[in-house]
Amino acid sequence: MSTKIRTRYAPSPTGKMHVGNLRSALYEFLIARHEDGVFMLRIEDTDQERFVEGATEIIYRTLEQAGLVHDEGPDKDGGYGPYVQSERMKTGIYMKYAKELIDRGEAYYCFCDKERLASLKTEVVEGKEISIYDKHCLGLSKEEVEANLAAGKPYVIRQNIPNEGSTTFHDELYGDITVENADMDDMILIKSDGYPTYNFANVVDDHTMNVTHVVRGNEYLSSSPKYQRLYDAFGWESPTYVHLPLITDENHKKLSKRSGHSSFEDLIEQGFLAEAVVNYIALLGWSPEDNRETFSLDELIREFDYHRISKSPAVFDVGKLKWMNGEYVKAMDPDAFYEKALPYIDQAISKPLDKKAIAAMVQTRIEVFPDIPGMIDFFEEMPEEYDTEMYVHKKMKTDKASSLKVLQDALPLLEDADDYSNDTLYGVLSSYVEKDGLKTGFVMWPLRCALSGKAVTPAGATQIMEIIGKDETIKRIKEAIKLLSE
Ligand code: GLU
Repeated sequence: MSTKIRTRYAPSPTGKMHVGNLRSALYEFLIARHEDGVFMLRIEDTDQERFVEGATEIIYRTLEQAGLVHDEGPDKDGGYGPYVQSERMKTGIYMKYAKELIDRGEAYYCFCDKERLASLKTEVVEGKEISIYDKHCLGLSKEEVEANLAAGKPYVIRQNIPNEGSTTFHDELYGDITVENADMDDMILIKSDGYPTYNFANVVDDHTMNVTHVVRGNEYLSSSPKYQRLYDAFGWESPTYVHLPLITDENHKKLSKRSGHSSFEDLIEQGFLAEAVVNYIALLGWSPEDNRETFSLDELIREFDYHRISKSPAVFDVGKLKWMNGEYVKAMDPDAFYEKALPYIDQAISKPLDKKAIAAMVQTRIEVFPDIPGMIDFFEEMPEEYDTEMYVHKKMKTDKASSLKVLQDALPLLEDADDYSNDTLYGVLSSYVEKDGLKTGFVMWPLRCALSGKAVTPAGATQIMEIIGKDETIKRIKEAIKLLSE
């Protein structure tokens, strides 16, 4: 058997792709690529009740947008197919292996009906009440089992976990975990509808598909000893396990749908860039030696080492993600930025203004695309009202009276100017600044307030003039003079 690394991302098509799922997929992808191994996609659709129409398409779309190209999967045969569990079931693989376990005394048919199961002792496990099966059907004779099967009695197949001894499995982050066999339930391997449970299918599939590394959320940690029992029962070697810490929100609660940031699709809809999201997700639990933070996917492939994943819960910090997104936005090619920014510019601007120039002004200033409309709406129109206290600026040494004077002085100069380019206008105002022995800010600050009604704008006064044009500039300055004269 070759020792080539083979990882798998094994999502269940149950809805949007959560940040936690994407992190598992990313780490699986990185482990495989780092070692020139194979990254495989397997669709786990045996839980028919949880199946959501369209969810498989979301999985493909998300992996593609995130750049996590799989080497094998339902659409790319690598000789280990089928890659969809419902199709694997049709090949009879799960039943075959379940029967092998029965022959080895490691599993058994169970014919107990609902009433009997309801009467069993229950235990609360992770907040859920589950009944502990009492191995009743393990006591059936071979003849009784055969008679029941011949009579078509419904059945499940259960794992036979001994009452003595213990089972140990190894996780790369959590180390060795040992559980008393007596504490483990005889879990169902094959359900009454003939489908395998996830618990059984993941073991059979990971083994038969030669998977070497399994990365998944630590909600599977508590079931892993049962999986180990299955590997032991078959005499198979188990894969290397990496169970990932929980991802929480800023309040240290499990990241939930309510946070609005729980799925990749939500984040993309909110205007985050796929590359930034992937970069950020890589750091949810993992950090490189030098604490560097920005990585392209290729750099991650080179640097990623799963031994450096931390066990402590990873906090999903939207502020940090926004910062990171801003870094990616700044690095974008200006044309690509313009194309992506245009719909957001259009939300605020309907006049025929120079949108390319506006895009260039905001590219270095936004964190996420939805920041754009609120930053540029003043180009279209002055806010209905603004606080004239804005004209009072300590550092610029301006107050309302000095601002009024500057606006009154500048108005005729701006009325005389014909070339409304930033450079020309800056020259015109600079000569006024020099002639009167003023400071640039003393003149530009009131002009910018008058032209935008905002203390923070993505452009200086003369840049704003260039965008909005002469008529609008004159109109706004006259309005400001009126306002300050009141
Ligand atoms: N189908 C499981 C899920 O989507 C995968 C768990 C695993 O990776 O083993 O949660």
